[in-house]
Amino acid sequence: MVSDTPLIELRGIRRRYGGQNGAPEVEVLHGIDLRIAAGEFVAIVGSSGSGKSTLMNLLGCLDRPSAGSYHFAGHDVAELDADQLAWLRREAFGFVFQGYHLIATESACENVEVPALYAGMSADERRQRASALLTRLGLGERLDYRPGQLSGGQQQRVSIARALMNGGRIILADEPTGALDSHSGREVMILLRELAAAGHTVILITHDREVAAQAQRVIEIRDGAIIGDSGAQPNPAALPAPRFDGMSVHGAGWSALGEVLRSAWRVMLLNRFRTALTLLGIVIGVASVIVMLAIGLGTKQKVLAQMASMGATTLYLYAAQPPEGGPWGVLSEGDLEALGRLPEIDLFTPVIGNPRMVQYGNASRDIYVFASNEQLPAIQHWPVAEGRFFTAAEDQDLAPVVVLGHKARKFFFRDEPNPLGKQLLIGEAPFEVIGVMAEKGRESGADYYDEMVFIPYAAGRARVYQDISEPEYAALTAASTDQVQAAETATRELLLARHGREDFQVDNAAAKVQAEAETQDSMTRMLGLIAAVSLLVGGIGVMNVMLMTVRERTREIGVRMATGARQRDILRQFLGEAVLVTLVGGSIGVLVGLIGGAALLVAGVPLIFSLSAMLLAFACAVGTGLLFGYLPAKTAAALDPVAALASE
Ligand code: ADP
Ligand code: MG
Repeated sequence: MVSDTPLIELRGIRRRYGGQNGAPEVEVLHGIDLRIAAGEFVAIVGSSGSGKSTLMNLLGCLDRPSAGSYHFAGHDVAELDADQLAWLRREAFGFVFQGYHLIATESACENVEVPALYAGMSADERRQRASALLTRLGLGERLDYRPGQLSGGQQQRVSIARALMNGGRIILADEPTGALDSHSGREVMILLRELAAAGHTVILITHDREVAAQAQRVIEIRDGAIIGDSGAQPNPAALPAPRFDGMSVHGAGWSALGEVLRSAWRVMLLNRFRTALTLLGIVIGVASVIVMLAIGLGTKQKVLAQMASMGATTLYLYAAQPPEGGPWGVLSEGDLEALGRLPEIDLFTPVIGNPRMVQYGNASRDIYVFASNEQLPAIQHWPVAEGRFFTAAEDQDLAPVVVLGHKARKFFFRDEPNPLGKQLLIGEAPFEVIGVMAEKGRESGADYYDEMVFIPYAAGRARVYQDISEPEYAALTAASTDQVQAAETATRELLLARHGREDFQVDNAAAKVQAEAETQDSMTRMLGLIAAVSLLVGGIGVMNVMLMTVRERTREIGVRMATGARQRDILRQFLGEAVLVTLVGGSIGVLVGLIGGAALLVAGVPLIFSLSAMLLAFACAVGTGLLFGYLPAKTAAALDPVAALASE
């Protein structure tokens, strides 16, 4: 039964081209009937244009007939889908082309390994088998040569080794000697004869009758029809047909991923300049996303620190000239007390602050002497670092006590471990140091407070500011952060009622800080958007280069398909290349972003790197690669193998 089923059986095969887009339909094969048994050495001979290559593409399952049936080992090939056809090509066929069709970027050994890659053979096994085959064909010394470094005859032997890599039960050789000198041509023919003797089915296509005569069976084709057949010659040593029940259409699997990245890496290196330019887009995109987000975060942090130090509830109240003109207003202590009783207002202090000569020992300096009540630390959210702040009682009793700002302490008491209890001269009056405030620092945006000294309001009025009778301004806090606006309104209404005119000004510092924080947020969003756009542009660059690559390597794609690559193998390969470019670009981008950010940091720009921003930028880059690499990869995977092989 098995021996009755021919390996290959064609019935009424026709192949027509054209017929669409107004092109006239041409029939190239006019009903071919052909049976070939396993182990035969067949030559198909005919003049150029007679349809030999068309027939071979059909036999090799690279192409489908327009009409007629093709049974392979009893199975109707028309019923197989693309992945199953790829399996059949891998398992059954080995192609040898007139133009060798080796992948120029890969070594001889790697070229031979390609079919096994798609069959899922392990890397070690692949390498071993490929080098054994090449050695058998006399190329043991040339394993790592690129096709360009080999002669025509050697390249053809590499392609024969490739055809044998997965077993090559059926060798389809299209004009294998056509491009070779007579000596190399003879060697190739000897090889094919040996393979036939070893049980391989060899189908040799040639226009040369002398070459054809070396086969056991000669089939003559003219104008798309068989006009002569010398008859089948059974081969007792024939290799069996592949078992369809063992058909595996699973992908080459993750083991091939390393191979995908390796060959992608090589393509990148070979096109260094182009790759570098493509990378540049991604690098700039990723680096700017990182730096922009870091700047945004840094500035926001600064605003937040400012908010914390100023308090997000602080209002300032100044005397002013009313808009309608007239004398300047006066803030009285009575006004403040009335304000303090408003439910929207929590704390308040009158303030007088002017530069005065302050002296300790030999050190003296004109500094701001800040007179307020005992609420100041609470209003400013500002702790005392050493000693204590003055009390309400001390304020009432006109106690001559002073609390130093951080820098003022450094100035007057650089070498003294404990300034508490020491006497400072403010103007003419002696004040005892009872505390030192914590450092506000630069990032608070209010480090001018660090230079000041702080005295009780009443003592200040009595001992330093005898000439000033009313508070210069007042600091108030709203009862809560969401009552800031209400507190401002209540303050205005109260003072308007008390003064009868708008001879004051309320400065809503809290609202300003909040507004600044919001501006900052929208700035960050803007910068982030710009950076994202540059990443997008980088992605388009990747797509552009990938489309170019696919076009340049169309024939390589054809070769890979002929040797059994599934569409998804091709998809994966080109997607792998796109992702590798963005992976490398993303890594360099992160590095450049860090370096650029560090430089800005040194230049005094507040910025905070965040790991999540870096991961985000990196992920975006790789995502861009996947997104923009998909279309070119899909294009590559959808190529028709015959057309791809025929491309320049
Ligand atoms: P051979 O290999 O015997 O020289 P081919 O099989 O390559 O011949 O081509 C046979 C005929 O089919 C030629 O006339 C050729 O022009 C035509 N042909 C081949 N491929 C195509 C195609 N893709 N579209 C249109 N015509 C084609
Ligand atoms: Mg041809």
